Amino acid sequence: MKERSFIMVKPDGMQKRIVGEIISRFEQRGFLLVGARLLRISPELARQHYAEHVDKVFYPSLEQFITGGSVLAMVWEGEGIVAIARAMMGPTDAAQAPSGTIRGDFASSKSFNIIHGSDSPASAEREIALFFKSAELL
Ligand code: UDP
Ligand code: MG
Repeated sequence: MKERSFIMVKPDGMQKRIVGEIISRFEQRGFLLVGARLLRISPELARQHYAEHVDKVFYPSLEQFITGGSVLAMVWEGEGIVAIARAMMGPTDAAQAPSGTIRGDFASSKSFNIIHGSDSPASAEREIALFFKSAELL
């Protein structure tokens, strides 16, 4: 099976009405959308998704943010998608993100940074399983 990544438009990206722009960028890059779901993340799912961060000082505000509005959860497929998506997104702190990256073009905060993308193929597998049943993916 080809490489897949879990990509999610966060509540701030939904509010900014840039879902189409974000999808376009992945399509232009030649990646294939194999799953998509609009949802409101529960506190429990937030804790699972951000398991590595639950003990960090910023976690309470991260949970409030990520559960505070709807998100678009997606699975994208293609050669090298995990690393390429991270490059397309730019660094976590959008203030450091170059123009031309999604975060660099649409965000300026370390907390409210528009988009999530898996940081490794193993993370991608774990995150995809949290949000999708295998029958929901093409
Ligand atoms: N985050 C935050 N404050 C921080 C670090 C991270 O609010 O000091 C949030 C931010 O939304 C980030 C998410 O927690 O995207 C996950 O952090 P991570 O370091 O995994 O960054 P990412 O993988 O999203 O670039
Ligand atoms: Mg991360």
